Amino acid sequence: SGCITSAESVLITQQSHEELFKVLRNNTNEKEQKIVVVSLSPQSRASLAAHYGLSSSETGRRLTTFLKSLGVHHVFDTNFSRTFSLLESQKEFLDRFQRKEQDRKALPMLTSACPGWICYAEKTHGEFILPYISSTRSPQQMMGSLVKCYFAEQQGLSAQQIYHVTVMPCFDKKLEASRPDFYLKNNETREVDCVITSGEVLKMLEEENVSLTDVTPMPLDTLFSNVSGNEYLSHAGSSSGGYLHHVFINAAKRLFGEEIKELTYKTLRNKDFHEVTLERDGVVLLSFAAAYGFRNIQNLVQKLKRGKSPYHFVEVMACPSGCINGGGQVKPLPGENAKELLHKVDELYKADLPAVPEEDTHVAELYETWLQSVGSDRAKELLHTQYHTVEKMTNGLVMKW
Ligand code: SF4
Repeated sequence: SGCITSAESVLITQQSHEELFKVLRNNTNEKEQKIVVVSLSPQSRASLAAHYGLSSSETGRRLTTFLKSLGVHHVFDTNFSRTFSLLESQKEFLDRFQRKEQDRKALPMLTSACPGWICYAEKTHGEFILPYISSTRSPQQMMGSLVKCYFAEQQGLSAQQIYHVTVMPCFDKKLEASRPDFYLKNNETREVDCVITSGEVLKMLEEENVSLTDVTPMPLDTLFSNVSGNEYLSHAGSSSGGYLHHVFINAAKRLFGEEIKELTYKTLRNKDFHEVTLERDGVVLLSFAAAYGFRNIQNLVQKLKRGKSPYHFVEVMACPSGCINGGGQVKPLPGENAKELLHKVDELYKADLPAVPEEDTHVAELYETWLQSVGSDRAKELLHTQYHTVEKMTNGLVMKW
């Protein structure tokens, strides 16, 4: 991404598949052994699935076998933490909507799961834009908290004893993982130690001379997965987590008593800008949008600055077509059409999405035992974060801009 500083690029290049190989190879001393946890994103599974001609769920199970053969101890699924992210976003939106009369900057709520967009917002638009940005953590950083706090405690381990790796469609996720906000309080360990891309996983497979088509599948670890091998309910939502979809449906129900089964998107200007509205008697009650790619983002910010944005909520993503099209995804094979590949990845991704967030009983249980409730103080501490202008982000790191 164009806005990464030299200090940040050091933090990013430290996270690579070579680094993961090194950690795994040097992890033989029993006394000092790290428990290695890998969290797989659904977009990465879909990308590798398209490459190998498998389904996403099958790819997840085969990757579990492969990673465990290299010495990884647990393989989880970030669809699980995505559910936390959706539930917290729904709650955050209701809170913001209710205070919109007193707080001019409560709305529109802008999603924050895309570090490419966040990097741009913090460095280019600073103070002006920050109040609009959702404090809810992205699925990656939710997983960071789940693994280094909840899972560590459950296993009787300290956070330092765990090496947490995420597999993502995106290089900017490495930058997100190295934000000072996502170091645990003692600052000695990050919630996500290493981010590798879908393409880097392919490199690992190739370097080990393994083809996923030949690997025997095994289930993902069930503690933090909702893809333990069952068939999934196919579910609508964007390729970037489905924030707009789920927040809209929840808000329509909670604020206006409307049960909405399916969203009707209106595509404006170009294929990466959509709008959805809830109207009653000709009055617009809710106005949501998805803005993907920098062209649409710049347009949105300009509108906000001129006080001309009609939206209550915008799902903002830096990549055109969203995360399935991230820079870290597996590249098309020679002769393969990039557009067709993207379409394939999108289909595979959508077939793999779990059920409605409110109906996930496993997540509901964890809320009860660990966090009390959605939006509780503990959930705020562990599942939310804050954004900064660049000057305030230094915290020991030299930021040059
Ligand atoms: Fe990364 Fe692109 Fe997704 Fe943003 S939209 S999180 S830059 S893959």
